[in-house]
Amino acid sequence: MAHPGDKFPIVTERLNHWFGMGEARKQAIFDVSLEIDAGKLTILVGPSGSGKTTLLTLIGCLRDVQNGSAQLLGQELNNASEAELTASRQKLGFIFQAHNLHESLTALQNVRMGLEVHARQSPSKKADTYNVAAAHLLNLVGLGDRQKYLPSNLSGGQKQRVAVARALVGNPLVVFADEPTAALDKESGRNVVALLRRLGQERGTTTVMVTHDNRILEMADRIVTLEEGRIVDDKRFDT
Ligand code: ADP
Ligand code: MG
Repeated sequence: MAHPGDKFPIVTERLNHWFGMGEARKQAIFDVSLEIDAGKLTILVGPSGSGKTTLLTLIGCLRDVQNGSAQLLGQELNNASEAELTASRQKLGFIFQAHNLHESLTALQNVRMGLEVHARQSPSKKADTYNVAAAHLLNLVGLGDRQKYLPSNLSGGQKQRVAVARALVGNPLVVFADEPTAALDKESGRNVVALLRRLGQERGTTTVMVTHDNRILEMADRIVTLEEGRIVDDKRFDT
């Protein structure tokens, strides 16, 4: 059955956003209208301060929509209730520049956190199924033999792969990644994005990634360029 948002899980129409109040009020996003294709890797590029993170956090329900429309999986986010926003967030996965792993938790426990935030099952049932799911994802990202490692004993690339596993373990429909390779060397960065892309393709996940890392742009299905809060270029590729 078709659902609203099936073809375009993210749609914005004339989206605007301002920061600050009074004299300091400054517009960061201008009239952004965008349809993001389902199951593809869309990369947002643009100079520092061009509004990439702001746009990502607006469509990722991490920031209130002030003006215009943003629809995520058929849900209008402008004026959505807290319950609607929470329900929407549960369908998403996030990966940030710094891996944001808990240093006191093992790789497996960190990946489990990606399930525990949703807490859809009773605590007793959770333990086993969560461990199985988390271990499965660690295998998929090539860290099956690192389950018990603490982040401090993993390389930067490995930590970011744990973050990828944590973002994907709940089977999100949409994954948002904000400069996920910024802290990595060239090869690790490429590996992390290639992994994200492959898992996304296999699972039909829609991935929206911010980067100004030229080395990974060739993996994009589409590149949307922002400048001073506006879309100035938009290219789709046959991949
Ligand atoms: P990018 O991610 O492309 O570097 P951002 O979305 O972070 O850009 O920022 C876009 C614009 O909004 C910049 O001018 C930035 O200074 C401003 N901005 C971002 N976040 C805030 C904030 N929390 N408060 C005030 N201004 C902000
Ligand atoms: Mg940013």
